[in-house]
Amino acid sequence: DAGETVHVALGDRAYDIRIGRGALDEAGASARALGARKVGVVTDANVARAHLPRVMESLKRAGIDASAVTVAPGEASKNLGTLGEVVDHLLAARIERGDLVLALGGGVVGDLAGFAAAVLRRGVRCLQAPTSLLAQVDSSVGGKTGVNSRHGKNLIGAFHQPSLVLADVDALDTLPEREFRAGYAEVAKYGLLGDEAFFAWLEGAHEGVFGGGPERIEAIAASCRAKAAIVARDELERGDRALLNLGHTFGHALEADVGYDGSRLVHGEGVAIGMAMAFRFSAALGLCAPDDAARVERHLAAVGLPTSAKAIPGGVSGADALLDHMRQDKKVEGGTLTFILARGVGHAFVARDVDPAKVLGFLEREL
Ligand code: NAD
Ligand code: ZN
Repeated sequence: DAGETVHVALGDRAYDIRIGRGALDEAGASARALGARKVGVVTDANVARAHLPRVMESLKRAGIDASAVTVAPGEASKNLGTLGEVVDHLLAARIERGDLVLALGGGVVGDLAGFAAAVLRRGVRCLQAPTSLLAQVDSSVGGKTGVNSRHGKNLIGAFHQPSLVLADVDALDTLPEREFRAGYAEVAKYGLLGDEAFFAWLEGAHEGVFGGGPERIEAIAASCRAKAAIVARDELERGDRALLNLGHTFGHALEADVGYDGSRLVHGEGVAIGMAMAFRFSAALGLCAPDDAARVERHLAAVGLPTSAKAIPGGVSGADALLDHMRQDKKVEGGTLTFILARGVGHAFVARDVDPAKVLGFLEREL
C-alpha cells in the first residue's frame, strides 16, 4: 500500500500524479513545494462535508493562506454562471499568478475549477485533488477543463494541465457505491482500448479493487499510466487521444437521451453500455470475434454495470433519436460519424466515416 507516482511527460508542463492513502494530508506541503503562498480551494458540498476540513488543516499547517468556495454537487454546477461565481471568489481571495487553485472533488469540480484556473488572470496553476474514482483515473489527468453550454456538454473550455494531481485513495471510502462502480467503467476502458493484459488482470482482481484492497491502488495507478501515456503522445486530441472515447459515442447519446438525468443513468453507466455496444457493433461489422463482445459484457456484468440500453430505467427513445444525438456530439466533424471500434480486447482503433445506415441498423437491433 505504499502508493505510486505516475509522471505525465509533457515537456515544460510535465507533472506528477501521486496516488496513495492519505494523499490529501499532503496538500499543504505540496502547495508549498510548488511555491504557492495562497490557495483557493474549489469543492462541492458533499466533498466539503467529508474532506474539506482535512485539506484546510493541511494547508494551514504548511503556512498557506487558504480559502474555499463550495458549489452545489452535480453536473448542473458545470455552467458559466457558477464559473463566474468561482472566479469572483478566487479574485476576492486575491489568488495571484504564482498561487494555486486546488480542485477538491469529482470530475465536475475538476473541470469547473480547472477552467477557472485557466481563465483567472489568464492562467494560474491548478492542483487537482480528485475524490471520485472517475476523477482519479480519468478527468483529473490530461488538462481538459470546461463547463457545459445549453447547446451541449463540455462545449466551453480550455486545455489547462494541472501542476500536480493528488489522488487520495482513502477519499474513495466516502464515495457512494454507485459512483464507484460508474468510475470503474473508465478503469475497464483502459484495458479494453489498449491493454489486454490489464483487462485480464481486472477479470481476476475486481473484487479487490471494489473491496479497497491493494488492487485498488494498482488499478488506479495502471489507469493513470495508460492515460498519461496517451496524453503525452497526443495532448490536444489530434489523433490517438480519441481512443479514450471508447464507449463514449454511444454512451453520450444515451446520456443525452435521458436528459442527463443521473437517477436513470450516470456517465460511467452510459460508458459501460457504450463499450459493450462498441464491441457488439465491432463484432457485427466483422472486426472482432463475437466472443470478445461476450467477454466484455461478462466482466462489466460481474461488477454490476449495465451492458445494454434496455437496462436503463424508463427506456430510451429510439434508434433515430440516438443517431441524432451522435451527430450533435462535438466529436462529429463535417457530418461524418467517428467511432472507437475494436479488433479485439485491447485493440481499439479510431474509425472515421462510419456508414450511418450501418449504425442505424445496429441501433434498431439493440433497442
Ligand atoms: P461528480 O463530480 O459529480 O461526482 C459524483 C458525485 O460524487 C457527486 O455527487 C459528488 O459530490 C460526489 N463525490 C465525489 N467524491 C466524493 C467523495 N470522496 N465522497 C463523497 N461524495 C463524493 O462526477 P464524476 O463522475 O466524478 O465526474 C463526472 C464529470 O467529469 C462530468 O462532468 C464529465 O464531463 C467530467 N469528465 C471530464 C474528463 C476530462 O478529461 N476533463 C474526463 C471524464 C469525465
Ligand atoms: Zn468518460
